[in-house]
Amino acid sequence: MTRQRPSSTETAAQGSRASLLRAVPPVDECLRALADSPRARGVSRAYLKKVVQQAADDLRAALEAGRARSQGDRHAMLAQVVHRAESALIADEPALKPLVNATGVLLHTNLGRAILAEPAIEAVEQAARAAVNLEFNLQTGERGDRDAIVETELCALSGAEAATVVNNNAAAVLLVLNTLALGREVVVSRGELIEIGGSFRIPDVMLRSGARLHEVGTTNRTHRADYRNAIGPDTALLMKVHPSNYQIVGFTSEVALQDLAALGREYGVDVVEDLGAGALIDLTQFGLPHEPVVAERIAAGAAIVTFSGDKLLGGPQAGLIVGRRELVAKLKANPLKRALRCDKLTLAALAATLRIYLRSDEIGDTVPTLRLMGRKPAELRTVAAQAAQIIAERLEAGFKVEVTEATSQVGSGSLPAESLPSVAVTITHPDMSANAIAARFRRARIIGRVSADAFHLDMRTIEDTAVFAVDLKS
Ligand SMILES: *Cc1c(COP(=O)(O)O)cnc(C)c1O
Repeated sequence: MTRQRPSSTETAAQGSRASLLRAVPPVDECLRALADSPRARGVSRAYLKKVVQQAADDLRAALEAGRARSQGDRHAMLAQVVHRAESALIADEPALKPLVNATGVLLHTNLGRAILAEPAIEAVEQAARAAVNLEFNLQTGERGDRDAIVETELCALSGAEAATVVNNNAAAVLLVLNTLALGREVVVSRGELIEIGGSFRIPDVMLRSGARLHEVGTTNRTHRADYRNAIGPDTALLMKVHPSNYQIVGFTSEVALQDLAALGREYGVDVVEDLGAGALIDLTQFGLPHEPVVAERIAAGAAIVTFSGDKLLGGPQAGLIVGRRELVAKLKANPLKRALRCDKLTLAALAATLRIYLRSDEIGDTVPTLRLMGRKPAELRTVAAQAAQIIAERLEAGFKVEVTEATSQVGSGSLPAESLPSVAVTITHPDMSANAIAARFRRARIIGRVSADAFHLDMRTIEDTAVFAVDLKS
């Protein structure tokens, strides 16, 4: 297929879509023009080409959508592509950009979940800068086990005999099932066959792990007899899954972990539990409802409990596995463990976070997730008043900036039915949609929430109102 180059008179005269798109000069031509730019000095050619290609694509899309206008002659179009490419090049900032999370969702998976405690941040920085004893026993000089970095802490906090750590809780569940139930059956209540966001579904993980799912009971009611009738020679495990992000209410019944563990002992079958959020301490001290605590589940008879490092624990993304020594030893010996293991940065952050739980009587102040969860509306009202003033000063006349009541959520499937009373700064404009206002704040890296055709900035996660002292005018 040959493509005819448009003459400049043709592009100037015709507004048809095809000629609009053809108005953007070829990549090679743009690349030559960009290479002459002082900003392109020292930049690899492959990268320049990528940036130019992207800039040309963006311009074509903008032309098509009517967001940019064809400026007739090729020179002007060339300049547009080069200008776009240069702006992309000089954006010398991290790929992961710091954002202001004012969504009201404390643990926002899309925004990176938990914010680390200061000691964890310091530990990551130190581990990043130097060689560390990741798998090295300082006493003997021999090779060590990377789990040892956090195992003592995890055992102390959970009351379990042994512990191991993988990349995330999904990986933890996969490893447990693959190690302890490969080719055999795992009995799960139909009320607990959950889907967590991001395509984690218990039946799918089960299938990929090589274990066979044996569903019992119904969505709303499962009884001890259902589990008992399911147990046979092929049963490897009884499994409980914490239905993190939804609740079954009404005519319901589930078998308590204690009872399931007793049944398991009768038949010599272990009970494992996927706890999800995995609080290490009782959250009722922050005025929150009781969320299952890992140590309680071990005490109630779970042979293995898996949970996330970056949900209620407030640490880095990780999947924590605690339980009986001989089972954990099997997990560690599985070749999959090698594929799912954590790196030194994660382990550094995790160890530092766990040590806060062990040492500090001010956990609620030191771990940001817990600190933010515990904030009261009175405090948030003061923050909101300050924030509203700063924001109003930075917006043109016509915007209405108010302090309103709001409700925030813990997020990431933790405490789904609980909303925490909160306070928001609500911004509206008679001639601008809430989505347009949201887009304007997004450009300033401030992420809020749109509802009831208003833009809301929830103050629960805002500790320093200076984050709003930015350019909000464009
Ligand atoms: C969140 C959750 C998972 C997935 O954990 P990640 O750490 O996000 O991989 C699995 N199971 C339950 C019950 C959860 O709540």
